[in-house]
Amino acid sequence: MTPVIAIVAIAIGVLAWLIGAPLWRVRRRAAAMAQPLPATTASVIDRNVPAVRNLPPEQRERLESLMAAFLAEKEFIGCNGLAVTDEMRSTIAAMACLLVLGRRGHYDALHSVLVYPTAFWVEDEVEDEAGVVTKRRRVLSGEAWESSRIILSWEDVLEAARHPGEGYNVALHEFAHYLDAEGLGLAAPPPSPPLPPARERSHEVRVRAPAEGRVRAVAEWAADLAEEFDALLDAVDRGQYTFLDPYAAEDEAEFFAVATEDFFERPVELRTAHPRLYELLQEFYALDPASWRAGEAEMATA
Ligand SMILES: [Zn+2]
Repeated sequence: MTPVIAIVAIAIGVLAWLIGAPLWRVRRRAAAMAQPLPATTASVIDRNVPAVRNLPPEQRERLESLMAAFLAEKEFIGCNGLAVTDEMRSTIAAMACLLVLGRRGHYDALHSVLVYPTAFWVEDEVEDEAGVVTKRRRVLSGEAWESSRIILSWEDVLEAARHPGEGYNVALHEFAHYLDAEGLGLAAPPPSPPLPPARERSHEVRVRAPAEGRVRAVAEWAADLAEEFDALLDAVDRGQYTFLDPYAAEDEAEFFAVATEDFFERPVELRTAHPRLYELLQEFYALDPASWRAGEAEMATA
């Protein structure tokens, strides 16, 4: 084979892989999503994931198909001698997929979920303002600092089931960090009716076109979120009680992750305490968890 033919053959091979791999992935995902989850999985998530108990039927169906893809694609690795069970896999998958019910993307860059039996130690290096680097050892219940893996303590994941409605959920917290870092922006709104052909649209109409059906710029949304964060910082500085865990005052990323926990774990309370923050999270996730709880209240009084 001449070098030219070899180069062309390699180029064709690379091209075929570039085109073929995503297609193969899409087909494999569609096949996984079409498989119904075993009935035992459904009862596990009802028991361990209070936030999904009141999902409307169509959302529940979508959650289960997202979970099937997540379970087929992501590797779960037990750490410190932990044997990962189906219960662990299903519980974590349900929490992860709840966050993307209204969003595009399937944690595409995530390869593995590392599960520790309890809180775990990590050692990293921190640099102070003078540039001095020191080693630090911390005990964590979860971590999401790399796009390819998320680390969780199973004991802490179960805390959300033990204390529903308290706004604590380490898995939601870490997967929220993941989505934040992933940078896919706000969830797309439901499709709006098609616009008339371009030439029939006057400039005036376009300027006045309602924001409805349009995803606004993430920067604009982030500026609104930063205002909510500043309000929390002020409250913490004044020593006031805060609805959000004061850990949210750490930085904007923690604020978003902590607020996400409350959005799904105690949505009605979050909407009452911080209506604007609730709206901003609705924009990010394209979901309205407070309305699921309203359904629960109606069922209870019926
Ligand atoms: Zn965090």
